[in-house]
Amino acid sequence: MSAMEPWRRSLDAAGLVDADGSTRPTIFAEMSALATAHDAVNLGQGFPDEDGPSEVLDAAVEAIRSGANQYPPGRGTPDLRAAISEHRARFGSPALDPETEVLVTAGATEAIAAALLALVPPDGEVVTLSPFYDSYAAIIGLIGARHTTIPLRGADFQPEPADIDAAIGPSTTVVLLNNPHNPTGSVIAPELLERIAARAAAHGAVVVSDEVYEHLVFDGAPFTPIAAVPSARGRALSISSAAKTFRVTGWKIGWITGPAALIEAVVAVKQFLTYVNGAPFQPAVAVGLRLPDAYFTEASLVLQRRRDLLSAGLRDAGFAVSPSRGSYFVVADAAPLGVEDGAAFARELVRDAGVASIPLAAFAPGSSDPAIRSSLRFAFCRRDEAIEESVRRLSAYRR
Ligand SMILES: *Cc1c(COP(=O)(O)O)cnc(C)c1O
Repeated sequence: MSAMEPWRRSLDAAGLVDADGSTRPTIFAEMSALATAHDAVNLGQGFPDEDGPSEVLDAAVEAIRSGANQYPPGRGTPDLRAAISEHRARFGSPALDPETEVLVTAGATEAIAAALLALVPPDGEVVTLSPFYDSYAAIIGLIGARHTTIPLRGADFQPEPADIDAAIGPSTTVVLLNNPHNPTGSVIAPELLERIAARAAAHGAVVVSDEVYEHLVFDGAPFTPIAAVPSARGRALSISSAAKTFRVTGWKIGWITGPAALIEAVVAVKQFLTYVNGAPFQPAVAVGLRLPDAYFTEASLVLQRRRDLLSAGLRDAGFAVSPSRGSYFVVADAAPLGVEDGAAFARELVRDAGVASIPLAAFAPGSSDPAIRSSLRFAFCRRDEAIEESVRRLSAYRR
């Protein structure tokens, strides 16, 4: 079929097809296929290889057996909305009204799509950090809105005040943040969050913050949710998900919280995307959100140990490793190994070393930053044995 087919114009305008009109396999699919072909340890895509807490899994089985198999209420079951609200208050956000300020979604992915579709007109503008999670650009492109970025700079991948001020202005409709940050593992400093929120407030923009890694912050550091940032009050939507916190990425239970008027706008769109989802998983996620503090602390400690193991292995293999302060990921710059093109090097590494990663440039299309071009993202949400094996393979590998 030719690129001229009228039905391809929307995908084409959103940058989702190649010049010949074919839809592109994502870099995640390509690297996973290569990992399988070369029997590599797959540190590419970010899904855990261990099940979540048994209380949570058991609750889902029990819910199916006890008949929670039909459409749940549009905004989510009242008990899950109550659990989300309790959980937010327990972890540093202002109290929420579960009736009006909480919406359950089909994963964080739907929350992001529904929020952007609801709040951004085709002549609107969305500001994101760069690098960014790939679904952001796809949805902004499908809306036909403008996408402006704030580059993350330095080994710490922080936004700079001058870049914040330059990106957020009178034409900004939504500032879409991701904190803790995928792919870089950075956690945005609270004073920079305040600057972003103040700038958005000055221009009437809404801040949407994707916080799916809110519990996976390391070294005992505190995490500041956008809902606790003073200038974001009354104009911020917070998104999270069961996927990463409870290691159930296949369940697709997410949530979005914030001021009633904004949530109502998101509901208006969400009802025509999925209507509802995951009836038996909703009570199970409520059980997860009510687990004691120790669960959340332990989950981050286990991941922190794996981060340390992988980061040390990457350093020993000659990479310049950025500090990962949160998320499932660490960024390693291969420039000290003489690498300029990270995408080519990622393919080389999966074939010759047997370790799969994702080139950082896949998350920053159009970036000319040489450090982004030469860097790779590695996932450490894997069993100890997988991390240890990848470290052995990296240390045996010489370019
Ligand atoms: C994994 C991930 C998501 C998707 O979460 P789901 O709940 O599975 O839809 C969204 N945002 C970021 C940054 C992620 O890493």
